[in-house]
Amino acid sequence: MSTKNVYSFGNKTAEGDGKMRDLLGGKGANLAEMNLIGIPVPPGFTITTEMCNEYYRIGQDAVVQLIKPEVEAAMKQVEDAVAGPKFGDNTNPLLVSVRSGARASMPGMMDTILNLGLNDAAVETLAAKSGNPRFAWDSYRRFVQMYGDVVLGMKPVSKEDEDPFEVIIHKAKHDKGIVNDTDLTTEDLRELVVKFKAAVKENTGKDFPTDPWEQLWGAVMAVFDSWMNERAILYRKLNKIPAEWGTAVNVQAMVFGNMGNNSATGVAFTRDASTGEDLFNGEYLINAQGEDVVAGIRTPQQITIEGSRRWAALQNISEDVRKEQYPSLEEAMPAAYAELNEIQQKLENHSADMQDIEFTIQDGKLWLLQTRNGKRTGAAMVRIANEMLKEGMIDEKTALLRIEPQKLDELLHPIFDPKAVKSAKVMAKGLPASPGAATGRIVFFADDAEEWAEKREKVILVRIETSPEDLRGMHVAQGILTARGGMTSHAAVVARGMGKCCVSGAGEIKIDYKARTITMRGTTYNEGDWISLNGSTGDVYDGKVNTKDAEVSGDFAEIMTLADKYTKMDVRTNADTPNDARVARGFGAKGIGLCRTEHMFFEGVRIKAMREMILSKDEAGRREALKKLLPMQRGDFEGIFEAMDGFGVTIRLLDPPLHEFVPHQLATQKELATEMGLTLDEVVAACNSLEEFNPMLGHRGCRLGNTYPEITEMQARAIIEAALNVQEKGIDVHPEIMVPLVGVIEELKLQAQIINETAEKVFAERGKRIAYKIGTMIEVPRAAVTAGKIAEVAEFFSFGTNDLTQMTFGYSRDDAGKFLKVYQDLGILKNDPFEVLDQEGVGGLMRQAVAGGRATKPELKVGICGEHGGEPSSVEFCHTLGMNYVSCSPFRVPIARIAAAQAAVR
Ligand code: PEP
Ligand code: MG
Repeated sequence: MSTKNVYSFGNKTAEGDGKMRDLLGGKGANLAEMNLIGIPVPPGFTITTEMCNEYYRIGQDAVVQLIKPEVEAAMKQVEDAVAGPKFGDNTNPLLVSVRSGARASMPGMMDTILNLGLNDAAVETLAAKSGNPRFAWDSYRRFVQMYGDVVLGMKPVSKEDEDPFEVIIHKAKHDKGIVNDTDLTTEDLRELVVKFKAAVKENTGKDFPTDPWEQLWGAVMAVFDSWMNERAILYRKLNKIPAEWGTAVNVQAMVFGNMGNNSATGVAFTRDASTGEDLFNGEYLINAQGEDVVAGIRTPQQITIEGSRRWAALQNISEDVRKEQYPSLEEAMPAAYAELNEIQQKLENHSADMQDIEFTIQDGKLWLLQTRNGKRTGAAMVRIANEMLKEGMIDEKTALLRIEPQKLDELLHPIFDPKAVKSAKVMAKGLPASPGAATGRIVFFADDAEEWAEKREKVILVRIETSPEDLRGMHVAQGILTARGGMTSHAAVVARGMGKCCVSGAGEIKIDYKARTITMRGTTYNEGDWISLNGSTGDVYDGKVNTKDAEVSGDFAEIMTLADKYTKMDVRTNADTPNDARVARGFGAKGIGLCRTEHMFFEGVRIKAMREMILSKDEAGRREALKKLLPMQRGDFEGIFEAMDGFGVTIRLLDPPLHEFVPHQLATQKELATEMGLTLDEVVAACNSLEEFNPMLGHRGCRLGNTYPEITEMQARAIIEAALNVQEKGIDVHPEIMVPLVGVIEELKLQAQIINETAEKVFAERGKRIAYKIGTMIEVPRAAVTAGKIAEVAEFFSFGTNDLTQMTFGYSRDDAGKFLKVYQDLGILKNDPFEVLDQEGVGGLMRQAVAGGRATKPELKVGICGEHGGEPSSVEFCHTLGMNYVSCSPFRVPIARIAAAQAAVR
């Protein structure tokens, strides 16, 4: 642990810098860095993330003892920097903000307190000194409300309860017959403060603290507490942020955006966070404090003229009305805008990444309150990386590392079919806050969204505005629609971070939470009705709208080409049908790493032939049934070989236990008995005889092929005949036959013998030959340990890490769900090992197998075809083992390609 626990900044100097995120949190590090590059930032100090951990370790009193001298000294420095006001001096009060700031940004998840230091005496001084009593009292009532909610625990816990302060405000406005907070007079605000404090006393039994130092320590501890609030814990879980990181606390001199009409506050992005377009953009509010913009309570105005015009067009607002009622910052405060524009460019150049900045203009003077790398959609991520590369701001390797592989998923989801959109009925228009196509049933509350989603219902979460409490609901929804709030509202920011479709600020819709209805252009929709959202245009459509598959083009395609330049591993796909193979090839798959032949047996008449084969009493009967399956299987292989012209295609022999194919319902068993000329009893007995206690460890994999060699014969024949057939058509075909679940070399030897003999027979019949390979899956620990021997026969290895994980841990793939979640909550496991490869255990066996196999055959081709082949950290591990390829489902191919390239670059 470091000996210094508090870091000061201000007046263009700082004790920390931008590289100290771990200790100072993202916000604290960037505040320091902004000072160092000469940007105007209100002075302040950062209490380190380590102190958050200490707070949880040694408790509140001990941690206060530990940092008190440093905090007092740092406050002194702030006082020196602002020259005049002193913290705790009611005749000239220094007011501060207290904000959280973790290593990774967690927007809106933790707590913030503004205007701290006010009390009944200080507010009078503020009123007199600013010459603006309304501003002073507005600041005071905000402070009492925020402090009451955050520190004193007045915030309601359930969704039915309202914030007690909001109830008081609402009543005051109602009594006076006014609508807007801005219509409250100084007198009204004075009365509100009295009522707020009375509510605090009534609810907590204590007086509202008047001593600024007591207020400060309360706020600092509340920020530490908020690290462990429910929504922060959930956010960390969703974003894989470790709890050990802790949050820093930033204490900063207040600057006021609510000092009158020459003051403002806003949020801006150096590029478009939704599309990636290189366009400075953002929103601001005149005479407001920061929270007002993000909370989405007032509809904010745009920063630039260009942005303002685009916004007005979406809202159907004429240019005259726009200029008059919603002028951009560029128009309303040209000097402050010009400075802001210069600073945003400087910040982007300095960080070489898109920045999300917060600013306040106090009486015409601009202050920066925050900068951070902006959260963005998958589309924006790709475009910004590619354009910054072309602009020479970053190099190729950095561009690749800027891609979060999992986020590419957003670009692979279906989009609305343009034809369907043309005929869709537009019911409302909002802001295109986060792109995508979403269709679902209307729900109004986050917990309903969760409940419905659990029942596999697709839902659209419709809210007047969202707050961090809605996080869970947003996570499970297809899309989010809000009536209020702009492009930087909570809904918009969080939705973009999640890659979720969102239309925000659709002012024309009327939501009635009580009746659970939404009215759009004269039509009322109930909870459960279907609507569709177009997050790229802001359109809300009636009912369901058809979608079509996405494709890899433009910036996305260019980044993918760049990935291929650096990658050392190929990416293949797991595909069982020609269509899946084509889709995967479109996403850049170079071959098939796993074709599971059993999936082909489930369709239509095939399952009947399969059942006939399984229920036959002898080999002759089985051969009869297999004859029927042969042409079907051959046809499938031909389609797949054609789709993968020029690339290797690994086809795996039959793997699952046979009971998966036989009917378990009496009616179907009866049908089968009639068809096969057997009695029902015979069929039932045969089906029952296939039951196993541990089917996953039972009669499956090559154990089938070795006990029923005629199955392997049929499959080998289908593969070789199909290969010869397509070769005749001029297709470049590379069949690879893969034997599953080998644990003992003899198992593979026997299967290879059958395959080779069958192939020779077919070659003789056809008078033609074709090259093919025989390899094995490594999915039984014994195979991994004896890989050196197995490689004497196998021409390639493919790690079946689903089974290898199952057998290494001894966790059943089908039953582990029951305890894996608990195990992760208890910290026994960091991840679900079926999702993220266990590098230590399963990975240890893999390392041993690669070494053993290559000791026997230095050129041995090694790949992976378990689910881990599409998971970025597992792909990186495969790279470090020197594997030749990873194979994953078609929609994960681009993710794996980027992950493989990043592994090579790192
Ligand atoms: C595996 O075990 O990892 C594998 C790819 O095979 P399956 O999932 O079909 O058992
Ligand atoms: Mg397997």
